Amino acid sequence: MKAYCGHIIYTPTSLAFEILPKGYVVVNDRGIIQGVYASDKYPYGNEIEVVDLGNQLLIPAMNDLHVHAPQFANMGIAMDVPLLLWLNKYTFPEEAKFADIEYARTIYTQFVDELVKQGTMRAAVFATIHTPATLLLADLFHQKGIGAHIGLVAMDRNSPDNLCNSVDEAIEGTNELLAHTKNYPLVNAIITPRFVPSCSPQMLRALSKQAKDRHLSIQSHLCETTNEINWVMELEPEALSYADVYHRYGLLTHDTLMAHCVYPSDIDMGLLQQTGTTIVHCPTSNCNLASGIAPIRRLLEAGIPVTLGSDVAAGHDLSMFQVMQSAIQMSKLNSAIHKRQVSALSLSEVFYMATKLGGSFFGKVGSFEVGYEFDALVIDNDSPMHDSIYNSDTLYTRLERFVYHGNVYQIKKRYCQGKEILIK
Ligand SMILES: [Zn+2]
Repeated sequence: MKAYCGHIIYTPTSLAFEILPKGYVVVNDRGIIQGVYASDKYPYGNEIEVVDLGNQLLIPAMNDLHVHAPQFANMGIAMDVPLLLWLNKYTFPEEAKFADIEYARTIYTQFVDELVKQGTMRAAVFATIHTPATLLLADLFHQKGIGAHIGLVAMDRNSPDNLCNSVDEAIEGTNELLAHTKNYPLVNAIITPRFVPSCSPQMLRALSKQAKDRHLSIQSHLCETTNEINWVMELEPEALSYADVYHRYGLLTHDTLMAHCVYPSDIDMGLLQQTGTTIVHCPTSNCNLASGIAPIRRLLEAGIPVTLGSDVAAGHDLSMFQVMQSAIQMSKLNSAIHKRQVSALSLSEVFYMATKLGGSFFGKVGSFEVGYEFDALVIDNDSPMHDSIYNSDTLYTRLERFVYHGNVYQIKKRYCQGKEILIK
């Protein structure tokens, strides 16, 4: 066992931060938290090793619940068109390159390194239709020692020929990924229909069956733009709404992540509630593609779980701190547009989304509570003003400043399941 002593900040609930100035997190040899103590309640003397983090913050590591690894080379560029044009003009040509395993190795290696650098220890990732490159991505996560649900993307209609797989190829590809990751404790496969326009009814049916048979989570996109929704309703005229298409094929479950949900209808909202589906809010992406402002407060008030995703490369940065900041800013614009009738998101709400709620897709991850895996970041953003003062208020201020204004150089250490993960 080992104890980490520092300024501990985490969110057991979305309502408020738990802040323990010079508190202790005790972690066993398997990386599981055994106890969390305020400085005057620490029960161990010299019996166990103490890692003294000095005046640094100790916070849970980040979880990114929606990111496209093969779009990494396009991060920060190609923002001049809306979603459907953007896919055809920039994204599909880039993803087609992953037929080349050496190209995949170059980009995926950089992608995983950058995730770690930004403090993200777990991610729900879209790969491409290409099985060899997707297996390689799983290897890279495993070798790095961080966690992922990796999706071999299924798409068999309305897509370029070189980016279509058949139903059999999609199912077999995920079976191969499952066999390949059998001994990778932190890496798993996730069922990944790209979105309704690129998946035939046969594909959606087969994927739903595979998810059920193999007990897998599911990820896709939902209600990102109005043009996309109109297209879905043309393609699936019998459906009552966009979410109803997924629902009819059994793809909305407690283990489903749906990115965006900028324009949910009342029917969509009802189905999300009823099925326990989680929405992944991607505010930087929604802003960059001018998709719109997702009604996050409305989703939360309806009891629909909401977590956060970078959605690189429609999102321009892998930093989940930047995504948190953007989520608050978008919610403030939304509040202003609605004449303050809708409240903005608080810092603790978005922090909770990126840590404890996002982490729940990977086991007991994302909080400093007994039984949780020790996924953590050590942040050094002290300033002379605060040198000798540590109380809950000043530590909250330091966290807030880091979320809005921090950088990777201030992340001094990264841990996933108790193991320190080094950057290059
Ligand atoms: Zn996406």
